[in-house]
Amino acid sequence: MKRLETQYVLAQPARRPLKIFASDPMLGRTAGNRITVDVANEALRPGPQGARVEVIDYDGAHGRFYPPVNLDDPAILMEGGLDPTESDPRFHQQMVYAVAMRTIENFDRALGRTIELRQGGYPRLRVLPHAFHGANAFYDRRLHALLFGYFRADVTDPGPNLPGQNVFTCLSHDIIAHETTHAIVDRLRRYFLEPSNEDVLAFHEGFADIVALFQHFSFQELLRDQIQRTRTDIRTPTLLVELARQYGYATGSGRALRSALDKPDAKLYRGVTEPHARGSILVAAVFDAFFNTYQRRIRDLLRIATGGTGNLPAGDLHPDLVNRVAAEASRTAQAILTMCIRAFDYLPPVDITFGDYLRALVTADYELIPDDEFGQRGAMIEAFRLRGIYPEHVASLAEESLLWQEADHDFPPIPVETIEMLRELVFAATSFSQSPLPSVSRRAEQAAQRVGGYSRTEEGAETDLSAEMAQQLYAYATANAERLLLDPARTIAVHGFHSVFRVAPNGRLLIELVVQFAQQDRTQADALGGIPVRGGTTLVASADGHVRYLIAKPLPSPRLDPARRREADARLERQRSYVAMCDAADARLAYTDEAYLRQRMALRMNLFALHDGAA
Ligand SMILES: [Zn+2]
Repeated sequence: MKRLETQYVLAQPARRPLKIFASDPMLGRTAGNRITVDVANEALRPGPQGARVEVIDYDGAHGRFYPPVNLDDPAILMEGGLDPTESDPRFHQQMVYAVAMRTIENFDRALGRTIELRQGGYPRLRVLPHAFHGANAFYDRRLHALLFGYFRADVTDPGPNLPGQNVFTCLSHDIIAHETTHAIVDRLRRYFLEPSNEDVLAFHEGFADIVALFQHFSFQELLRDQIQRTRTDIRTPTLLVELARQYGYATGSGRALRSALDKPDAKLYRGVTEPHARGSILVAAVFDAFFNTYQRRIRDLLRIATGGTGNLPAGDLHPDLVNRVAAEASRTAQAILTMCIRAFDYLPPVDITFGDYLRALVTADYELIPDDEFGQRGAMIEAFRLRGIYPEHVASLAEESLLWQEADHDFPPIPVETIEMLRELVFAATSFSQSPLPSVSRRAEQAAQRVGGYSRTEEGAETDLSAEMAQQLYAYATANAERLLLDPARTIAVHGFHSVFRVAPNGRLLIELVVQFAQQDRTQADALGGIPVRGGTTLVASADGHVRYLIAKPLPSPRLDPARRREADARLERQRSYVAMCDAADARLAYTDEAYLRQRMALRMNLFALHDGAA
């Protein structure tokens, strides 16, 4: 009998459909605003609470919990999730879960691995859709949580909202995607929350907007509607390129919160320092590259559709044309977003600049797709140049100068035992998460248990690698410290060792190992407002342990060669002058106490509000 039952058990669907607002409730029933997206199907407890994300609906302003939605309830399953509505908190819970999961999946796919979202005592990223009363939203590292506020729309100038109506930041696709990205970036590069130069926080902000905006292009109905309206010219102010519209209008600004469009001006990058505004320069550069690539990719379609003239006839575009153009737009958006995320593995562990990011973009993309068929790398380089963003220490803006320098051929390889262990870890982690295989070795089984474990680093932060693995890499780093541009006299911390599997468009499987080594010098932390001087190296190796790239930001040390030494000194000087610049703009300094002084840069870090001016 039992046997018979199991024969007829249906396989679980791989994806779970859920309804969301594509933009936010302000758009109401406009074409394409109420859409169904799908996320990986996992068993969910009420919350929803899945393996990596947990929605906790505690209303901080009223001190009460709202009943959690059970997305596995058959009545809800049959409907593909609750219908979008502002009035039911259970829909709010569904929407934050769906959008957060989609954002996380975008990272998983681009990076070729599952992003680890456990941290400290928290097994999951926590999401509080009604955390407080206020026109803002935050990622909070200490709480390992995304906190969304709600507020009443401006009474005098609410735009299309009702004066004084309730506005929920947790119902804005862009705000959810933006805050989720902050949390993921913080897992990938923990020191990118420390303002050691004026690009660091701006990168966090800009990157979070990039992810939120590109996700618009995966909403087919919205995309087709906008392509029809703009007659394929999506480089115009539309829903697609505007971020958090309801929030922007409801706070009385008369427009969306931010936009991906700009008038390129090299002066801005030299002068703008507020992180959101500076981040917008990065966003505009990336979108400029996107638009150019998109135009190149649809040129043939337009030629066919217009008999070679390129002039579209008056009236509505043919739906077939709209469909094909929308497909190209969405493919291009996915390709550029993937390129943007993949660059993470080629970023230094500390003190990022926009120029570093450009080099990482070019290198990561070159590694996977050596021939730049659609010119997306070229477009990216040009867009950065137009905005005055130049990497340091490069001879020119030619692609070959921007690629990170390859490590010497005789660079000491990662030891075979370490590689073997990693392979077992990866194999065990992937096979055990699905179904345990009896043939897996005992060692792999132990490794699978370890993969869930954490090792504590010098600062008490978590890393996603087993203690044994960390030890082996630590030994490797200590033995080769000088060649890794690390200071042998200082402690070396090992972060985020992982392997990456990527399939190039030509079907080639690319396997890489990436590890971050970090060091710090706390002796000047007081003078630098509580933030130490950090150095470190990201190492990229091929699957056989051969070291390919060292992306290093060394601490000043007499052991460095003169050129590297000058770079390290200049970096320290830049951090000092950045602190001085922030001090000059800080009115509190005139009457503050010692405690504030010692921690002032760390305290100024509290910029993770969605909006600078608000709470
Ligand atoms: Zn932000």
